[in-house]
Amino acid sequence: MNSDTDSKREKALAAIELLEKIYPSALCALTYDGEPWKLLVMARLSAQCTDKRVNTVCETLFHEYPTPNALADADISRVMDIVRPCGLYRVKAADIISCAKRLVTVYGGVLPDSMEELLTFDGVGRKVANLLLGDIYKKPAVVVDTHCIRITKRLGLIDENVKQPEKIEKYLSLLLPPEKQSDFCHRIVMLGREYCPARGYDCAVCPLNKVCANANKTEKGCAKQ
Ligand code: SF4
Repeated sequence: MNSDTDSKREKALAAIELLEKIYPSALCALTYDGEPWKLLVMARLSAQCTDKRVNTVCETLFHEYPTPNALADADISRVMDIVRPCGLYRVKAADIISCAKRLVTVYGGVLPDSMEELLTFDGVGRKVANLLLGDIYKKPAVVVDTHCIRITKRLGLIDENVKQPEKIEKYLSLLLPPEKQSDFCHRIVMLGREYCPARGYDCAVCPLNKVCANANKTEKGCAKQ
């Protein structure tokens, strides 16, 4: 480990400490009743859609299809109608039915607990797989979403010119203690929504400004945009 990585690791630990104080509960913004297959479905629907909308849509979806078997046998036109508010509804409806079928026929209804297996489900990429591994199986998992990319760059943990989510995931997994990774990502989403959105943020009032590279660029932190 070189000294640059060491200092970023220290910064990450300081950020984690602050985040844990601000947000004692690291909650996933997708609300479900603890059944793993439901988080799989919701995570697939959340692509390019707000978590709030997914939560609303899934109240109807899970009411009509309360089990993976029911969703596996669903009429796709009805599922498209239900998930239409999430956008990309044709492919999302096809994917979640396919996922339910695979879960039932290949895995007996039990969500697998490895990245390799999760990636075999339609519409599941590393972001969704990591969310599932971290939330369901409490495994080390870095969920690289838009908040994570934006804020870890602003904090100075990730170089600005690194674009590929998989590279960001790999580097963050070196910086963050394994047992803290999943919760760090949830808390970063919470911070992004409250203090550090893409535009219009004010470092002067952000609880992370003492450890953030972006805030320290000027005496007063970054100006509100
Ligand atoms: S100090 Fe500014 S850039 Fe850094 S996390 Fe807070 S709001 Fe974002």
